[in-house]
Amino acid sequence: MPRAHNFSAGPAALPTEVMAEIQHDLLDYRGTGMSVMEISHRSSTFMDIASRAEHSLRQLLCISNDYHVLFLQGGARLQFTMIPLNLAAPGEVVEYVETGIWSQKALREAERLRDAKSVASAHDHIPSESTWRRHSGSKYLYITSNETISGVQYHEFPSVDSVPLVVDASSDFLTRPMEVDRFGLIYACAQKNFGPSGLATVIVRKDLCPEPLEHESEYLNYSTHAKSTSMFNTPNTFAWYIAGLMFDWISAQGGLKEMQTQCQLKSQKLYDLIDRSALYRSVIEPRFRSSVSVTFTLVDDALNRRLLDEAENAGIHHLKGHRAVGGFRASLYNGVPMQAVDALVEFIADFEQRKS
Ligand SMILES: *Cc1c(COP(=O)(O)O)cnc(C)c1O
Repeated sequence: MPRAHNFSAGPAALPTEVMAEIQHDLLDYRGTGMSVMEISHRSSTFMDIASRAEHSLRQLLCISNDYHVLFLQGGARLQFTMIPLNLAAPGEVVEYVETGIWSQKALREAERLRDAKSVASAHDHIPSESTWRRHSGSKYLYITSNETISGVQYHEFPSVDSVPLVVDASSDFLTRPMEVDRFGLIYACAQKNFGPSGLATVIVRKDLCPEPLEHESEYLNYSTHAKSTSMFNTPNTFAWYIAGLMFDWISAQGGLKEMQTQCQLKSQKLYDLIDRSALYRSVIEPRFRSSVSVTFTLVDDALNRRLLDEAENAGIHHLKGHRAVGGFRASLYNGVPMQAVDALVEFIADFEQRKS
């Protein structure tokens, strides 16, 4: 069965091999006669799936025992809420670096809950650390490693020692190695690089997870989930299982270094074509360009609709840019194979030829 060339920003393409494995297991998981989605999260079969997934992720990222690894529901955006609630007390200062729409949304939520400050504000680049307006007494500094909508990415993480560094890695998690020890908390939703939507992985330093106080929510507390191995209530078992398959798939490909190499090759093919072209344009400065979220526009906006229609006809899907910024976006997550990128490059080169 032919698979579409799918450049969706999320939920996004998963590797065909992983989809085939899910299909193989769907009605009968390893001789149980039941699907993973039909069995108790407390069964030994599922507990084994769950702990193996955690183990594989710990291996991929070399996560030490100083960190909890949690598999939570609510996607990435629940973390916009849980982070300020857990890492700071009411009235305490927390700092956010605004680099685009996702970090802005995270800041807006934090402002409702704590004394949240913007350290720097930009939407098409990463403001240099020397310009950051730091605030004393802050409980953490928050960044978004890849701004999925504009296509801006940190290629070097800031060196912040004074406070825990918190990162929303939702759209580039597991697309490159990360030094976990440099962070207080790393989180990502699954639907971009490692599974279906609704699940988020949170890697959080144990000392940042106090027990909930009497008047605080038990559910929104990290230590609650850590103590119950992310099974305080029924987890998203099927998504967790798929995340485990993805972790194993990534390590079978050669691990995070290889994911990074692939990502760079995929995005470079597109950026090279865009930079050579008279029709396409990237508004992001090369040193901040994302290797997973490639955004571009047409010099002549009147052709936008035609490009999308012709792409669909050529079996190339989800190229439309986010509604907040328009233009086009190709998401090149782990599940997007090189041949899809080659098909896209060929299509947009051909489109330009025909329009000039
Ligand atoms: C997709 C995305 C989110 C939102 O994820 P949800 O699972 O829909 O809450 C947050 N941050 C970034 C950087 C994203 O790419």
